[in-house]
Amino acid sequence: MLEDKNQERTSLSSLGEFQLIEHLTKDIEAKQPTTLKGIGDDGAVLNFKDKRTVVSTDMLVEGVHFDLAYMPLKHLGYKAVVVNLSDICAMNAKPTQITVSIAVSNRFPLEALEELYSGIRYAARIYDVDIVGGDTTSSQKGMILSITAIGESEEDDITYRVGANPTDLLVMSGDVGAAYMGLQVLEREKQVFEVNPNNQPDLEAYDYLIERQLKPEARKDVKDLLKALEIKPTAMIDISDGLSSEILHICKQSNVGCNLYENKIPLDPQLISVCEEFNLDSTTVALNGGEDYELLFTITMEDFEKIKANPNFSIIGHMTQESEGVHLITRDDTKIPLKARGWDAVDEA
Ligand code: ADP
Ligand code: MG
Repeated sequence: MLEDKNQERTSLSSLGEFQLIEHLTKDIEAKQPTTLKGIGDDGAVLNFKDKRTVVSTDMLVEGVHFDLAYMPLKHLGYKAVVVNLSDICAMNAKPTQITVSIAVSNRFPLEALEELYSGIRYAARIYDVDIVGGDTTSSQKGMILSITAIGESEEDDITYRVGANPTDLLVMSGDVGAAYMGLQVLEREKQVFEVNPNNQPDLEAYDYLIERQLKPEARKDVKDLLKALEIKPTAMIDISDGLSSEILHICKQSNVGCNLYENKIPLDPQLISVCEEFNLDSTTVALNGGEDYELLFTITMEDFEKIKANPNFSIIGHMTQESEGVHLITRDDTKIPLKARGWDAVDEA
C-alpha cells in the first residue's frame, strides 16, 4: 500500500561496509554537552559527571515487530528511536544519546537505508539526542534494527517500578488503546489492498489512531511537567504492552494491590467510535492494546491537589494492600481481577 515504486535502487553490494557506514553517518554531529566523542572511533565517550546514567536497549525484527507492507521505512526509523527513548523517560530520566545497529539483507537498496536513517535522524533531532555509534552488518533475510538509548538523571529523580505504596494514587499521561486500534485499521486496509491493489483507502476517519501506531511519541515532557508540579512519582513504567500488564508489573514489583476504575481510563473519542465499528470493547482494547508509550506512575495521596486538574494527566485508580489484589472496578461497580491480558471475567473480548 505504501511501497514506493519509483525510487532509484543502489545495490548495497556496490558499497563496502565502511562506505555504507560513512554514507549513512557522514554529517551526524554530536550536540549534547555529555557527548565527548560520538561516531568515528572504536567507542563513544560520554561524561555525565555526577549524574546517574540510564541505559536501555530494544531490538526490532522484521515480520515479528514490524511489517514493511504498511510501515514506511522512515516511520520505522522514527518509531524504533521513540520506543527506546520512552524507556529512558519511564525511569524519569532525560534521554541524551542513542546508538543504532542494523542488519539488512541485500533485498534492501541503499535508498531504503537512507529512508530508515532519515526517520532515525528526525527523531534524534526532535528529541534532542545524539547518535553516537552503532553497527552495520548483513542478514540472510529481512531487517533487524537494534537501538540503545542512554539518558541522564539526578540520583533522586530516578523512578523505578518498585516504590509504589498501598495508599498511592495511580496516574497516567495521555490516552490508551489508540495505537492498537491503528494497527487493526492498517491490517484491515492491507487485506483490502491485497484483494484489490487499485483500491485507495480513505483513512481520514482513522487519522489519530494511525498516527499513534505509525508515529508514536515518547513522553519526554513528563519529567519536566512533574518537576514543575513539585511531584516526585513513587514508581513509574511506560505503557508499551497495554495498561493491564504495566499495572501488574508495578504491583508485583512494589508488593501492592490496585483498584483501576474503568470510567477513569482516558480514551480518545476516535478510539471509542472505531471500537464500535470493529465491534470491540474499548476497555478491553485500552487494557490489552499496546504501543501507546504513555507513562504510568504512582504518586502519594498528598500530591492529589497538585495534579487533579492537570490536563496532561488522568488519575485512574489507587493502590491498595497487596492482599487485596489487582482489580478493575467497572462502570457498574463490579470488581474484576485484572489479568495481563484482559480480565478474569467470562470471555468478554
Ligand atoms: P568497529 O569495527 O569498531 O565495529 P565500525 O566500522 O563498525 O567500527 O564503525 C565505525 C564507526 O561508525 C563507529 O563509531 C560506530 O559506532 C559507527 N557506526 C557503525 N554503524 C553505524 C550505524 N548504523 N549508525 C551509526 N553509527 C554507526
Ligand atoms: Mg562495527
